[in-house]
Amino acid sequence: MEERVQVGILGGGQLGRMLALAGYPLGVYATLYDPEPSACAGQVAPLLSAPYDQWELLARFAEGKACITYEFENVPLPTAQWLAERVPVRPTPRALELFQDRLLEKRFLHEVGIPVPRFAEIPPQQPLAALEAVGCPCVVKTRRFGYDGKGQQVAHSEEEFLQAVQRLGAQPLIVEELVPFDREVSVLGVRSLHGEVAVYPLVENYHRGGILRLSLAPAPNTSPQLESAAREYVTRLLQELDYVGVVAIEMFQVGERLLANEVAPRVHNSGHWTIEGAETSQFENHLRAICGLPLGSTAPRGYSAMVNLIGELPPTREVLAVPHAHLHLYGKQPRPGRKIGHITVRADSPEERETLLQKVFALYPSGRV
Ligand code: AMP
Repeated sequence: MEERVQVGILGGGQLGRMLALAGYPLGVYATLYDPEPSACAGQVAPLLSAPYDQWELLARFAEGKACITYEFENVPLPTAQWLAERVPVRPTPRALELFQDRLLEKRFLHEVGIPVPRFAEIPPQQPLAALEAVGCPCVVKTRRFGYDGKGQQVAHSEEEFLQAVQRLGAQPLIVEELVPFDREVSVLGVRSLHGEVAVYPLVENYHRGGILRLSLAPAPNTSPQLESAAREYVTRLLQELDYVGVVAIEMFQVGERLLANEVAPRVHNSGHWTIEGAETSQFENHLRAICGLPLGSTAPRGYSAMVNLIGELPPTREVLAVPHAHLHLYGKQPRPGRKIGHITVRADSPEERETLLQKVFALYPSGRV
């Protein structure tokens, strides 16, 4: 008799959808919860739809679940805490609390010895005190609800800094040095209920307009020292928080140094390549972790590139005719700036990856970076 495990996922976007899909072969059945009734994960698994403070429906959501997880970090903390009193919430709501606030996030990273850019809280009465601590050029960011480049502004002078503070200033803010990075990378790690840790290879990421466009995995031109620093940082984070599940750290590479920019306490867009490009996908490993199962190997299968499909789709047939290309559609209505799918190409060498990537860009010019 197949053993079935029921889990709840807060959030019903594409991450929830890919988690739910990864669950079925393992006997892990997901129910989603999202205030938006048309959330795209609802096309592949049962979806309960109500605001995040509908306690009656949340109680029904929690019923019979082995555990509850989340697929985006802006789930209201009281919701996660309320659920955690009834059923295990993994990763711990403490991770939500830390990583939905850029100030708490940076302080935590700094305290556990993961390098971060210079940063300071902006006191509303004396904003210039923060600028003195950080210097110019800098980036002013809202502490909360910033993602995909939203809620942030670059400033090259004191005047621009004050303008940015005024523009964003209804909300609590921080300021960071503008890092002259060589490239952006990310590392994904996973920790099981029993403390086992596995780390995926470093990924190189390209953003445009603050949105991830392309990931190359494993990241090209990576020294063993850089790879081991990334591994050490993500392992430390997982252990410090007694974390269960997948976590992603987005980082800036400057020379041979890594500076952490942002932590996502969930599966992450820069890990989508793992579906075809790693022995075990980030989605499967997240479910294995939160359900108390052994983790799967994070070893890459050759060389992958993942192209996000944003706002518009390429022709399906032509994409599928590209050798080793895999199309993932999220079942979402196209809208400018909206992530509606991705393509992964998997290759046996970095050169082949580049050739295949160019074939994808020929069909999808707006994905070019
Ligand atoms: P975020 O919303 O913090 O992930 O930022 C979105 C993108 O803005 C990043 O991927 C970087 O390309 C850029 N960015 C954010 N913070 C900084 C910084 N302190 N220095 C340089 N670039 C930054």
